[in-house]
Amino acid sequence: MAEGSWDYSVFWKEAIAQLHTEVSEQEWVMWFNNLRYEGSSADSVTICVPSSFYRDQIQQRYCPRIEQKLKELSGNDISLDFTVRPLEPEEKQERPAKSHPAAESPPPKKPPHPQLKSEYVFESFVVGVNNSFAANAAYAIAKNPGTAYNPCLIYGGVGLGKTHLIQSIGNTVHQDDSARIVYVTAETFTNEFIQSIKNKTNHQFKNKYRSVDVLLIDDIHFLQNKTETQEELFHTFNALYDANKQMVFTCDRPVSELKHLTDRLRSRFERGLNVDLQPPDFETRFAILKRKIEEKNVPISDDVIDLVCRNITTNVRDLEASLTKLIAYADLVNKNITPEVAQQLLKDVFSNPRQSNITIEMIQRVVADYFALSAGDLKGKKRTKAIAFPRQVAMYIAREMTEYSTTEVGLEFGGRDHTTVMHACQRVESRMKTDPTLEPTINHLVRTIKENNAKS
Ligand code: ADP
Ligand code: MG
Repeated sequence: MAEGSWDYSVFWKEAIAQLHTEVSEQEWVMWFNNLRYEGSSADSVTICVPSSFYRDQIQQRYCPRIEQKLKELSGNDISLDFTVRPLEPEEKQERPAKSHPAAESPPPKKPPHPQLKSEYVFESFVVGVNNSFAANAAYAIAKNPGTAYNPCLIYGGVGLGKTHLIQSIGNTVHQDDSARIVYVTAETFTNEFIQSIKNKTNHQFKNKYRSVDVLLIDDIHFLQNKTETQEELFHTFNALYDANKQMVFTCDRPVSELKHLTDRLRSRFERGLNVDLQPPDFETRFAILKRKIEEKNVPISDDVIDLVCRNITTNVRDLEASLTKLIAYADLVNKNITPEVAQQLLKDVFSNPRQSNITIEMIQRVVADYFALSAGDLKGKKRTKAIAFPRQVAMYIAREMTEYSTTEVGLEFGGRDHTTVMHACQRVESRMKTDPTLEPTINHLVRTIKENNAKS
């Protein structure tokens, strides 16, 4: 076969089909729904994954097995390579309708669960790089409660979708079978517990929580310093865990960062799967707003969505609040919203406007020029000092001059992880303290970037 014309896609498909029969359905949903065959070379198959997290997990969990199968099927030693790239916009739009199995579930047949909001379902949850791991884990749990990923803890900052996801699990299980589901916030759990002691109904309290099939507790950071409630939850946990009952918790930070939690409860939370929710990147913010606008059927143009998404980068709750404001205005004055009107209406929440329209590409070009490299070097894999340091500088400047998140910056640098970007920024900052020439260099680069931008 001629150089460059390798095609192992058939072997890949077969290997994956075999694996499908060997792993559980939740493993399949979780890890394999997001893989796409990208291409082959003489001795490798390249697979596209939506985040570095997936790459690492697939590598650790399945690489040897897949490679073994590829070898058996093709007779060659074929290794797996990965490229990290979020789903293309069109793939993203198709996902909920096509590949997200939740979209095919039948309409609700039962009355809603009394503790759950019926709008918190997987169908209305927009999946992006920032949340796909958590969303897939939650979906896998909802489809097979108590069998894998038990317990599961979803953590992340305010307004990122923790309550939406944990309640989606509850709503899905509620529709699928007759499992007893209890959803509470940690605050309600605490209050009920205290009341039960006061009223001497502690026995009923214990019974209620130890006889559930699925226990969902939201915002467990609230339990800090509540030693007796923690003690009670610890025993509840053990009882349910031994009986293979599903437990899901949410928390506003990793459990390791909760200060006032007993070690033994902490270790219980950490026992199962811990998944995080990151702030949404631009594409995901756009997709979320677009979807909400379509659901509400209000005439708001893509220009306006673009403006809002560029300026509101924090979380989904803030995005929704801005939308509510725009809709209220549109209703009142009965007019279409232009970007100018939106800018005016939301100027207080647009506290952190982007510095003009400087792009990461522009920054890469200037930094690469300065260090006599190419932009491709900065995005590439090489980690020699001569490239690694300029790359860190470029990442640092990108974070300083634009509002892109570390995730977005990482993607622009050859699909690197957001932690790499964070690390780069720390390195540059600490080096500026010891190397007096660095700050002037960076200032010079920033000026050049601004001038280039003004010219373009
Ligand atoms: P948290 O519990 O993490 O503070 P919520 O689950 O309450 O956040 O989410 C805040 C709001 O944003 C809710 O209205 C929720 O429906 C919405 N939301 C969050 N993430 C998404 C998403 N990925 N797609 C659609 N809506 C979302
Ligand atoms: Mg919440």
